[in-house]
Amino acid sequence: MPQHIPHIEDSIKQMGHELGFDAVRIARAHLSDETGERLDQFVELERHGDMGWMAARRDERRHPRGLWADARSIIMVAMNYGPDEDPLTILNRPNEGAISVYAKGRDYHDVLKKRLKQFARRLIDTHGGALKVFVDTAPVMEKPLAQRAGIGWQGKHTNVVSTDHGSWLFLGSIFTTLDLVADIPETDHCGSCQACLDICPTKAFPAPYQLDARKCISYLTIEHKGHIPPAYRKAIGNRIYGCDDCLAVCPWNKFAHAAKEAKLKARDALNAPSLRELSELDDTSFRAFFSGSPVKRTGRDRFIRNVMIAIGNSGNGEFHDAIKPRLADPSPLVRVAAVWAAKQLFSKETFSVLSQTALLSEKDAHVRAEWTSGISGTTPG
Ligand code: SF4
Repeated sequence: MPQHIPHIEDSIKQMGHELGFDAVRIARAHLSDETGERLDQFVELERHGDMGWMAARRDERRHPRGLWADARSIIMVAMNYGPDEDPLTILNRPNEGAISVYAKGRDYHDVLKKRLKQFARRLIDTHGGALKVFVDTAPVMEKPLAQRAGIGWQGKHTNVVSTDHGSWLFLGSIFTTLDLVADIPETDHCGSCQACLDICPTKAFPAPYQLDARKCISYLTIEHKGHIPPAYRKAIGNRIYGCDDCLAVCPWNKFAHAAKEAKLKARDALNAPSLRELSELDDTSFRAFFSGSPVKRTGRDRFIRNVMIAIGNSGNGEFHDAIKPRLADPSPLVRVAAVWAAKQLFSKETFSVLSQTALLSEKDAHVRAEWTSGISGTTPG
């Protein structure tokens, strides 16, 4: 048996707090069979949608030691990023785009990783051992590990909730070869509350504690590479990157605080960006506008696809001139969404005239289907 060094855990936690982490807790490098079974069910029901890595890396995910055989303990860290204002009020301003709270500042992956690496250096200098750091890395099941470490519990919305920090938490982990004493896992404090389930615009929760990612607006607007399925377009409203609804209504948020880290605070330009201005971004201006932001991860075409859906939902006829150039956009992803927006905002006659011209030269099967279904009033297949 390796010898346990007294108080090493306290020293590690103090180190983490000094570096700005709001919670630092320890778990053994192990997950329960039940966690693995939940992952199996999620993948077998294909609720992961396009996120093929979830199925492909299932074995690494279910066992932390499948990722790194030498890991003995996992130091889980969390940073609070509570919004300065209610993130749901923008949903009533249809000419502006709603960007998820976590994506309005600098990319948290970069910020947390840098901080975790500092933490790792200090750990090695003080306590030795080998380690690896992870922030939102595909094979690490951060949420169940955070629950095992006692940071919070996985709420009915499947995200981590804490009695100290609410539902706004960035998570990261340090896998280490050190044998550390684990903290007590957190228990569920959701009680009878189901505000997060009730508010979901796309009914993405088949049951409490289960998410069908394929229906979730965060997935549809960020991860999903294809066309947004017609069934969810209206429910998306003006959400152009992610969705905060289920997190924002969590009553435990009364204990959340804003990000202390200046880099994680919302950039003014991303608080309520004009849909019209966003619709004009080309690849170069998109990269420049979202430099350092996680939004740039979708690439310009997926993002403008989302902007077109939001414009279609605006009910504002003044967006006609923002839609028209996108009907001829080089990306079919954008053209499909622009045709849908035109169908929502243009008169039947104008839509029909535009479709006749477009169909003379349109080669893409999906775009053609969007035009023809728009004329007939059916749903594209
Ligand atoms: Fe539903 Fe939005 Fe939560 Fe996704 S993020 S589950 S769409 S409320």
